[in-house]
Amino acid sequence: PFDVLVVGGGPAGCSAAVYAARKGIRTGIVAERFGGQVRDTLGIENLISVPYIEGPKLADNLEAHVRNYNVDIITAQQVASIKKNEYVEVTLANGSVLKAKTVIIATGARWRNTGVPGEAEFKNKGVAYCPHCDGPLFQGKEIAVIGGGNSGIEAAIDLAGIAKHVTVLEFMPELKADAVLQKRLYSLSNISVIKNAQLTEITGTDKVDGINYKKRETGEEQHINLQGVFVQIGLVPNTEWLKDTLERNRMGEIVVDDHNATSIPGVFAAGDCMNSPYKQIIISMGSGANAALSAFDYMIRNEA
Ligand code: FAD
Repeated sequence: PFDVLVVGGGPAGCSAAVYAARKGIRTGIVAERFGGQVRDTLGIENLISVPYIEGPKLADNLEAHVRNYNVDIITAQQVASIKKNEYVEVTLANGSVLKAKTVIIATGARWRNTGVPGEAEFKNKGVAYCPHCDGPLFQGKEIAVIGGGNSGIEAAIDLAGIAKHVTVLEFMPELKADAVLQKRLYSLSNISVIKNAQLTEITGTDKVDGINYKKRETGEEQHINLQGVFVQIGLVPNTEWLKDTLERNRMGEIVVDDHNATSIPGVFAAGDCMNSPYKQIIISMGSGANAALSAFDYMIRNEA
């Protein structure tokens, strides 16, 4: 069996694999694709000590760093389930079973998409998902935030300090965000809120030039000219495959303690798939390291 088996090859999984391998223990990593969300990112400017790097380059660096060590690498494979017997057993979609003394789950997350025409086409060409990451690209521009929950309203407040004007579009008749956030939102002069409105299209030619939405009360179609759209309708953890095997919260995130331990002894979780409040590369890397050190600690205490 592996001493540590990491599931996921994003920043969290790669960090966990490097930390585990450096303990000289038998380490494996299974990932659908190295790099995770980073591979789909244009430019990254907040990985401290690296002022700017393109996502695919960082993804390649992550993979290369893991390959520097003696790690068994299994890529292009999906993990389908996990079970604890004598060892932790990880079953792949192709049916094969990997056994390990400890497992670190780092399967990440994905932004929920609106699915409207233009969203996929203009991703990274005006359509963005992460205000901490891409906010500065919209300095002095007119933008919209889709979604009036906590993350949408936090994004709108954050972006109002950078953009010229922010329009919040909420599907329901009322915003769902906490009252304190709404109070702050309404105190800012360059934000407007449109409720009971359904986004129908993100328009543009080579980049975003506007949005179309439908007033749900009347069915009337409207258009707004703008240069950017932040979609804030939820981040979905890639944890469906775990079903009820371990504790997850209401959002589907894996619940961990301060050692990144899950409700199954010997199984740890790191990065965007767990219940950390902020989802960022640097945070995922830190949590992968924490999980690997905790897994090592668990292993030496539980060796026969
Ligand atoms: P992920 O990066 O999601 O990696 C998950 C890994 O698990 C992948 O290797 C995937 O293939 C694998 N996997 C998933 N399910 C399975 C399965 N069932 N079986 C096997 N493997 C599986 N953060 C920043 O700090 N700065 C930025 O500028 C920035 N920009 C971003 C821009 C975009 C467009 C997006 C989408 C995100 C951005 N983020 C940014 C957020 C950042 O990318 C994430 O916080 C980070 O990648 C999370 O790392 P992770 O390892 O937890 O998960």
